[in-house]
Amino acid sequence: MTAMVKAEGVHKSFGAAHILKGIDLEVAPREVFCLIGPSGSGKSTFLRCINHLEQISAGRLSVDGELVGYRQKGDKLYELKDSEVALKRRDIGMVFQRFNLFPHMTAIENVMEAPVQVKRESKTVARARATQLLDRVGLSDKANNYPSQLSGGQQQRVAIARALAMEPKLMLFDEPTSALDPELVGDVLDVMRGLAEDGMTMIVVTHEMGFAREVGDALVFMDDGVVVESGHPRDVLTNPQHDRTKSFLSKVL
Ligand code: ADP
Ligand code: MG
Repeated sequence: MTAMVKAEGVHKSFGAAHILKGIDLEVAPREVFCLIGPSGSGKSTFLRCINHLEQISAGRLSVDGELVGYRQKGDKLYELKDSEVALKRRDIGMVFQRFNLFPHMTAIENVMEAPVQVKRESKTVARARATQLLDRVGLSDKANNYPSQLSGGQQQRVAIARALAMEPKLMLFDEPTSALDPELVGDVLDVMRGLAEDGMTMIVVTHEMGFAREVGDALVFMDDGVVVESGHPRDVLTNPQHDRTKSFLSKVL
């Protein structure tokens, strides 16, 4: 079975700053893969590399069997053109800590935007799917609200629906609940749990250890640009092997 994401010795530097120092990991299709670690350890940078927002400095990184950023022909690698990168990025949905909705568009317009503008879908088709997606995230009644008329948790659920509208094969979540008031976190996690049940492949950077334990199939603890420890979430969270993992978990659990 082809891995959905495969990283082999992935390095990333920004100038002299060496941020990712040889990441090896594999995410299987339909897996919920949780990534935890202290602030500054390189989690967001790694997600950005998967999503073509950064280029890796060394190693190999592939999504669904295809190298990120390159086309392979025989032994040779060719850098992808911007238009080719744009095509690949359509298949990957990303949800950020800050919801980044278009403020001048209603919830349903936000969800319809990419299918209409990028995929040239008809508004009728896009609206029908957006309606279903808003229903799926529990916001049928908010379709015509503007982001400023929604709570943070509702905005984040619209952001998830917006990412799903492109029918991605992989969803990346970068601390999707970290900016939310505590009472709004549960609704967003419930939506993510539903997605997991439907078989979506997800990489989730999170401090929600309860979610990781209940929903995650795999968990990686990253520190200072390396994978320190990985395994089944229950094992890593209840029986961490490394001092750095223990110390981190003692602060967040
Ligand atoms: P995390 O998400 O685990 O908190 P990040 O991936 O955001 O960590 O950042 C890891 C390190 O990389 C930080 O020290 C950050 O300052 C640095 N970094 C991230 N992006 C850039 C960039 N574009 N230029 C320079 N340094 C960066
Ligand atoms: Mg981050």
